[in-house]
Amino acid sequence: METLYQQGLNLVVEMLRELENRPDFRADTSTLQRIALLANSRAVTGETEKSGVVETPENDEPVYQEAPIRIPDQAPSQEAGVATLAFEELRTKVLACTKCPNLVAFRRSVVFGVGNPAAELMFVGEAPGADEDRQGEPFVGRAGELLTKIIQTMGYQRSDVYIANVLKCRPDIPAGAPGNRQPTATEMETCLPYLRQQIQLIQPKAMVALGATAMRGLFGKEEPMNQMRGRWHLFGSIPVMATFHPSYLLRNQALSVKRKVWEDMLQVLDRLGHSISERQKNYFLAR
Ligand code: URA
Repeated sequence: METLYQQGLNLVVEMLRELENRPDFRADTSTLQRIALLANSRAVTGETEKSGVVETPENDEPVYQEAPIRIPDQAPSQEAGVATLAFEELRTKVLACTKCPNLVAFRRSVVFGVGNPAAELMFVGEAPGADEDRQGEPFVGRAGELLTKIIQTMGYQRSDVYIANVLKCRPDIPAGAPGNRQPTATEMETCLPYLRQQIQLIQPKAMVALGATAMRGLFGKEEPMNQMRGRWHLFGSIPVMATFHPSYLLRNQALSVKRKVWEDMLQVLDRLGHSISERQKNYFLAR
């Protein structure tokens, strides 16, 4: 049975959703993000999405999702409400952060993170790029599209997992300069406590660190990616699989590299106790 608290929360979400659909509705992006999060937390409590046809990473061939992984329905509990509140408080704090004046002057948004705040699996990248800064959401550019395909091929929807970066603001570059720059060690150290708090609240069963910069931000490790990937690293008590960043995959289209990333993801699915189909096992094997 729904608690009064949950009923009240549902009512507020309905009202906000109706408001959001009105053409004259105006709100800053943080409010919209918070509405989305509330809607997400409803999804965790039982609302489902359709699963459909997805493509393998890099369009090998379309694949029907087999046995999509679903977060089990949970009875709405007071603890879930408290956790949502703590997550919202953290988001509010992070969105107002001014610790790095150069980034504050340059950013359009603070890119907090996106997905299920009760996710079993969390992906961690390095920092937002131009697309992410514009949209206020991590991994929405070309690398993000590829990450989404990888997530779907694993059997999840993007909204089932949680996606965040070590650095929450786009690293500044000179006016008119193309591309992005890597976050500095100081920027990542300054921002890491926010990621730590996100991880503490989400309590994922496993994480995936995307690329060498994310590994440096999380662990201070400077080893070559080839040595770190495919292995488990511990962040506190949480196992972290290191793998190549999707941007690296976009630059390097070799089947052998795609296979390495896929093998890393198979290890993650195995660690989380998910069954792996024959078809999934065989992706990106040389024929
Ligand atoms: N690369 C990252 O590491 N993070 C993003 O959000 C986008 C691209």
